[in-house]
Amino acid sequence: MNLVMKFGGSSVAGGDCIKRVAKIISDFFNQGNRIVVIVSALVGVTDQLIEFSYKAKKGNLNYVHDFIHKIKERHLDIVDDAIKNGSLKEDLASTIKSNVEELEKVLTGISYLGDLTPKSLDYVLSFGERLSAPILWGALHDIGLDAFCLSGKEVGIVTDSNYGEARPLINITKHQVRQKLEPMLDRGVIPVVTGYIASNQEGFITTLGRGGSDYSATIIGAALGVDEIWIWTDVDGIMTANPKIVPSAKTISDLSFQEATEMAVFGAKGLHPRALEPAMIEGIRVRIKNTFNPKNLGTSIVNELKIKGGEIVKAVSLIKDVSLINISGAGMVGSPGTAAKIFDILGKNNVNILMISQSASEANISFIIKRSQLEKAISELEIALLGQGTIREVTAEEKVCIVAIVGAGMKGTPGVASRVFGAVSRIGVNLIMISQGSSEVNISFVVKESDGEEVARAIHDEFGLDK
Ligand code: ASP
Ligand code: MG
Repeated sequence: MNLVMKFGGSSVAGGDCIKRVAKIISDFFNQGNRIVVIVSALVGVTDQLIEFSYKAKKGNLNYVHDFIHKIKERHLDIVDDAIKNGSLKEDLASTIKSNVEELEKVLTGISYLGDLTPKSLDYVLSFGERLSAPILWGALHDIGLDAFCLSGKEVGIVTDSNYGEARPLINITKHQVRQKLEPMLDRGVIPVVTGYIASNQEGFITTLGRGGSDYSATIIGAALGVDEIWIWTDVDGIMTANPKIVPSAKTISDLSFQEATEMAVFGAKGLHPRALEPAMIEGIRVRIKNTFNPKNLGTSIVNELKIKGGEIVKAVSLIKDVSLINISGAGMVGSPGTAAKIFDILGKNNVNILMISQSASEANISFIIKRSQLEKAISELEIALLGQGTIREVTAEEKVCIVAIVGAGMKGTPGVASRVFGAVSRIGVNLIMISQGSSEVNISFVVKESDGEEVARAIHDEFGLDK
């Protein structure tokens, strides 16, 4: 088979992990598969790069030096643990040192200028994967495999210039990726590609958004028209619920792209929300697999899925750390443009809306945003809306959570909502807000945050997701 395998940060967290990953790649390669490897930054590194970019911007050079030292040592330690061959170790150490030196120069520049643009931030963020990929490359060489390390830019992923959340230009990317990788694969080489990073048409480094290595994997998989794309992580696949909240949660064996996309949006572990798109368009199966349990089949995601009888709901997830804002006023009734005004203010202030509902009386609009943005959102809304007559009040409920239920079997099945809300009412929990998109693949509602976990368990029980 032709395979793309992506390994996330937790799969390459330390020397042992990297050796385990190299062994997995070697086993599947030796079974006669052609494999392209995509790798993320070591766990936590991207977060640190963001943190220290902002510290550098404030002129904190001491922090920067400290950080540079730590990140260098961390990667060198892993090289030491993951690689046996002495001269390979030395080569890798010098690659890491020169990359870290470059990173230090960039952060120092940011600190002198006191300026951090999205473009320079992407440049900084690229170092996470530029430091991790060579180590995995080395681990493959160490066990006798012929591998070749490339960055997302070198492999030919070209994007627009929307730094921080760049979108691939598919046609040119397809062409370049094929030209670059096909000859290597024909020669029996295993390409190891940095996830997450690409470049725009002028050749400046861009990133595909947080968790973007998944996206790199599907972009490359779609370009090459591979048989399957395997996203390796540290759990057995996508689960019916968070097992920390619902102990009886199980791995889901099959999902459609539509279901998986809904779940990715609701924070299912190991998936970038846009990542499934290239695979869906090309009809390439995506599997989520566990590096710590490679024999397990994981979760398979495909286009067309026969809905098994009785399989109505597939998963329930909780989105915490969100707040509700309610805007009301009798003057809003029959007054076109009110909603537009509200969402325009939020959009201009970069406040993302997770859920919306408006009752038919039109006297109020409620929506859910991230809790960290609550204060900003309320003050911007008050400044812009109050005192103009139509809107009387902007109120908030700070500690709420969203319960999201996903399953293609809900579509056209009557009575699902009544079972959901019946289960909620039996445990005496009050519903604050409800919404169902017309795709019918998901129902979401809002309850007090303190009620969320109990509600998730009740729904999981009601639909027998543990069976
Ligand atoms: N390292 C990047 C991030 O943490 C990309 C990835 O892990 O997929 O967002
Ligand atoms: Mg990651």
